[in-house]
Amino acid sequence: MRLTFLGTAGSWPTKERSASAIALDMESELILLDCGEGTQRQFFQSSASFMRVRRVFVTHFHGDHFLGLPGLIQSMCLNHRTEPLDIYGPPDAEEMVGRALRMGYFTLRFPVTVHPLTAGTTVELEGYSVKTSAAIHPVPSLAYRLEGGRSGVASTERRPGRSASGAGTSRSSRPANPFGSAPRSSTRPT
Ligand SMILES: [Zn+2]
Repeated sequence: MRLTFLGTAGSWPTKERSASAIALDMESELILLDCGEGTQRQFFQSSASFMRVRRVFVTHFHGDHFLGLPGLIQSMCLNHRTEPLDIYGPPDAEEMVGRALRMGYFTLRFPVTVHPLTAGTTVELEGYSVKTSAAIHPVPSLAYRLEGGRSGVASTERRPGRSASGAGTSRSSRPANPFGSAPRSSTRPT
């Protein structure tokens, strides 16, 4: 399991940090935890390809956690993706992702399936599972806990007062072939 922090900023990107996104390479497949604006560009700074993303788990639908999704999906289409993409999120996921898929003019070239989840759900996947729990936030939100794979557990459970999601062990810095192997206020969303 290889964890790459693609973005750790809250509310909006900064000069140094992109909006929320974590890539988790399970070897069998690559999953994305949140997909903030700029996630595609961050993939170019990593050793991973955004074309390998098989699943996206969205914690909630504040813009800094999902606005990268329309661009990511449209770029996948431009690069002739045919593999399915599964997107998981809180109960409003179907409506929110549906809106994202209706943005602009493009042809969706691969199956996108949205899975609305509630707290206390376990999603069983090949070689690992993802458990959801409630997250304290003003909008429908979930925390994710991944179990299994080759090296245990990864979690997006949040500590009180912290805005970034995720936990991990590594940050990649090698350049990649993207298509190959592909002013702060108290009211800002996190
Ligand atoms: Zn938020």
